[in-house]
Amino acid sequence: EVALRYVAGVGAVKGGAVLVCFTDITDREQASQMRRDFVANVSHELRTPLTALMGFIETLRGAARDDADARDRFLAIMEGEASRMNRLVGDLLSLNRVESEERVRPKERVDLVEHLKSTIKSLEPLAQAGGTALVLDAPSIPVEIPADPDQIQQVFTNLIENALKYGGETVSVVLTVLDRDPALRCAAVRVQVIDDGPGIDPVHLPRLTERFYRADNHRSRELGGTGLGLAIVKHIINRHRGRLRVESDLGQGATFTVILPQ
Ligand code: ADP
Repeated sequence: EVALRYVAGVGAVKGGAVLVCFTDITDREQASQMRRDFVANVSHELRTPLTALMGFIETLRGAARDDADARDRFLAIMEGEASRMNRLVGDLLSLNRVESEERVRPKERVDLVEHLKSTIKSLEPLAQAGGTALVLDAPSIPVEIPADPDQIQQVFTNLIENALKYGGETVSVVLTVLDRDPALRCAAVRVQVIDDGPGIDPVHLPRLTERFYRADNHRSRELGGTGLGLAIVKHIINRHRGRLRVESDLGQGATFTVILPQ
């Protein structure tokens, strides 16, 4: 579909010719539609926990006023809803920051092996809680790339956290140095986050990095997902001039591959 805006018209001239000028505003229309969708999504995502909070406040004032057990239960749920809102606002701020920096290419040299080790260490308790084996397969020497250290940590935190949240028994993180990546046309590093969980229906794969897109809406919400994790990952990888590939099928686990120039 193409959106056109009428610019000017020249009335009928002798002989019957009429000149009418239009300008193509498809991009502008699409951008403003995306902005409207985004605001609608954010409002909806914030309103859901807020409505729950307001309901529980009312119950605590009324029916559950003198019931200590119910009060404790409701307060725990309220805490969960408040932290959901907190996560959402945190992810929105991250997305905003990453988008505003997207044009500035990071220059700092970062040792990816060290970063992956520390990301995995911080996610080890989550892996243990879910009974998942989290393993790193990386060279024993430093592998340096130009990167923003906090952002690169965020990419792998989000991917590994997803693999643990949605994944199965084992999550492997494999770092490989590539002499040359054919698409990037330079030396590169490849990091694969591989899980043996339930996988993703391939129909969802092309839209997975869109904001608030969830392959399994119910499960994502149940697990406390904001629906913004992969959108943040995509913007950070764009900033680093890298690429992201997702391979999955139902019942086949999922593999998220990040390729970054060296
Ligand atoms: P969320 O906060 O919902 O996890 P993300 O943007 O991180 O949002 O991921 C988008 C969707 O992709 C998730 O809702 C989930 O349906 C799907 N997904 C992401 N990683 C995996 C995985 N390792 N296995 C199965 N599904 C996944």
